[in-house]
Amino acid sequence: MHPLRLSRRHLLSTLAAAGIGAALPAGAKGTTAAPVSTPAPGPRRKDSIGVALVGLGGYATHQLAPGLRLAAHCHLAGIVTGSPEKIPAWQQEYGIPDANVYGYDDFDRIADNPAIQAVYIATPNDLHKPLALRAANAGKHVWCEKPMAMDAAEGQAMVDACRANRVQLAIGYRLQHEPNTRRLMAMARELPYGRILRIRAEAGFHAYDDVDPANKPWRLLPQHGGGAMYDMGVYALNAARYTSGQEPVAVSARQEIWRPGLFDGVDETMHFTLEFADGAVAECATSFGRNMNLLRADCERGWYELSPFQSYDGLKGRTSDGQVFADAVPHQQARQMDDDALAIINSTAPLVPGEEGVRDLRVLDAIFASARAGSRRIIL
Ligand code: NDP
Repeated sequence: MHPLRLSRRHLLSTLAAAGIGAALPAGAKGTTAAPVSTPAPGPRRKDSIGVALVGLGGYATHQLAPGLRLAAHCHLAGIVTGSPEKIPAWQQEYGIPDANVYGYDDFDRIADNPAIQAVYIATPNDLHKPLALRAANAGKHVWCEKPMAMDAAEGQAMVDACRANRVQLAIGYRLQHEPNTRRLMAMARELPYGRILRIRAEAGFHAYDDVDPANKPWRLLPQHGGGAMYDMGVYALNAARYTSGQEPVAVSARQEIWRPGLFDGVDETMHFTLEFADGAVAECATSFGRNMNLLRADCERGWYELSPFQSYDGLKGRTSDGQVFADAVPHQQARQMDDDALAIINSTAPLVPGEEGVRDLRVLDAIFASARAGSRRIIL
């Protein structure tokens, strides 16, 4: 029904060698979307935020739902799915009552459900905006996966709709909640090795060799927001921005297609160079054809890097003067959702608001325009 045809064996062997298996979209491991068991939670806090997951695919199944079970300030209260066959197992695993189960057609009824305060959208990328608008209009806080939308105009419409409905909008940039990444973000402010001259941000994996071209998964289809840039490329782009602590002013991008039957209308590999106003550059790459997981800053008096930088765990930092850091976080998504739930509870801004997603999309629009035109683009 939702086609995703990959060789799990092939993928995992390649990725294990590259040390990036944990960074794959869960669905790309060829897994089925059956709920997974995680440890029972502690007693639920009185002010815990009830969350409905929208789209019960790989990420919702293997990361978000288990994360909600581990979170202290939010819990899984409902599900929204287009696959009725998934419902019984989810209800059983997470104790979800019939009243909190929705399809995409009757999703707007969620407005009348006080048990659900926030919805978490984890569908193909083209559905993020329409579902976010419906959730906001239903008066629910919106948590949405990256990329938040297909382009900056769509992203801005989501920001506006959430503002008009007085609900929060948080984007699922889990790494910005993660301690090693936050250390790099602090280094962008403190510049311990002097000015940052050059950044490398590379995120990708080799996959999809076994896909039937007549039955492609949504990640290979342009109408769903497929292609490496929308998927892994967003990590590299967001990392270049948080590592520099600046907004890029220009971009030059070039795409490569190595398997043309498979990648038609979507990018397989994208190289993009971001220019910053102070002269720094970020050389970035993303790919569905090559394993990559590196973030590095070269500075006036040394360097530092995180590798891997975008896996679900095991992030490891090194510096030119021999420091090593690898702060553990028990579950990235639980941390992210707890942060976002606390922002709702305390009426404070979310750590990664919709505006941050729009900033990425503005650059993303320029990357696609540059790749199409074959020339450098100023970012407006
Ligand atoms: P999957 O393909 O595994 O799941 C997507 C789910 O969306 C489906 O299972 C389905 O759920 C629902 N859906 C609704 N309409 C469609 C459709 N037309 N085609 C396919 N599925 C549909 O994707 P992922 O879970 O891997 O990714 C979902 C989102 O999460 C993406 O935006 C992705 O970028 C993001 N993501 C983020 C990660 C992160 O680390 N932050 C990691 C992985 C993904 P149902 O059957 O219940 O309707």
